[in-house]
Amino acid sequence: MPTVHVTKYNKDMAQYQSDILIIGSGPAGYTAGIYASRTGKTSFLVSGEEEGGQLILSNDVENFPGFEDAITGTDLMNKIKKQALNLGVKIINDKIVEVDFSHYPFECSSQNHNVFYAKSIIIATGASAKWLEIETEEQYKGYGISVCATCDGFFYKNKDVAVIGGGNSALEEALYLANFARSVTIIHRRESLRADKRAQEKIKQHPKISVKYDVTVEKFIGEDKNLKGIKIKNVKNDKEEIIKIDGVFIAIGHKPNTEFLRGEINLDKDGYIITQPNSCKTNIEGVFACGDVKDPKFRQAVIAAGSGAMAAIEATRWLGQ
Ligand code: NDP
Repeated sequence: MPTVHVTKYNKDMAQYQSDILIIGSGPAGYTAGIYASRTGKTSFLVSGEEEGGQLILSNDVENFPGFEDAITGTDLMNKIKKQALNLGVKIINDKIVEVDFSHYPFECSSQNHNVFYAKSIIIATGASAKWLEIETEEQYKGYGISVCATCDGFFYKNKDVAVIGGGNSALEEALYLANFARSVTIIHRRESLRADKRAQEKIKQHPKISVKYDVTVEKFIGEDKNLKGIKIKNVKNDKEEIIKIDGVFIAIGHKPNTEFLRGEINLDKDGYIITQPNSCKTNIEGVFACGDVKDPKFRQAVIAAGSGAMAAIEATRWLGQ
């Protein structure tokens, strides 16, 4: 995240005041907006850089209630956004980069040099894709290494690609890539996949997809800015192998987007916001958290949406309604 330090109280900066400020525009943020808008409380929703959150990277969502056929993540998020706009949610395309919860009303500063003052805050900033963080990864990021098949898969028509990870995201990426690529190799560090059985069945039956179990990626290999292959190592017998690969998609989970909150609110060891049991309340009175930013366990769009509703209800009650 960029370190942008804005000068506070500059009279030229736009200032927004509201009862509730919602930070984030995934299923949690929009749902919080939908609920907040219906209470008569004033609110703003600051979308962040990636409007729509992680779901816009999902190709087929078939487990969000209300859609009898699979829907793309982008379509689903557009529908939720439209619903929010129809209900009067004021969406601001900007990113909160700094918060000050020691003052009341709470104060949040943005990348575009806006200042938001709010009596209550709902944090719904979600989580972002993790990288392997091995040597040479940086060199090929965007030049053969990606974290988004929907965004970059098309460039690998008739090429050989690998997907790193064994969860639902990895298998979903593999299935999507198989539409374009000549072959898709899933590289998983254990002997069994974490993804649900339904996804596992789909990849088992797919003629273009294979899985290499018990292997880790040791090194990315290429020339200049062109990825040519990866060196993998079997964790059981230490045997190393180089496989020729044109593109690698990393799908090994996510980390919460809470960098901008450090020192202002209680986070757990992995950076997730700690909330009270069965509640969206944080350790700061009047500040609530919902969705993946506080949920290392379930990380589902429908659960994020539900917790967005909870956060808005709790914020409204806290404000006195
Ligand atoms: P998960 O945490 O479920 O899976 C991450 C995978 O990456 C695991 O297989 C893990 O291995 C592996 N991994 C983690 N770190 C490393 C590393 N450093 N090197 C190599 N491998 C690594 O994350 P997902 O993003 O797949 O899914 C998150 C949640 O979202 C889940 O609850 C999932 O069910 C859900 N989801 C649902 C979808 C749907 O229903 N359409 C689509 C996508 C996600 P290991 O197994 O050994 O821990």
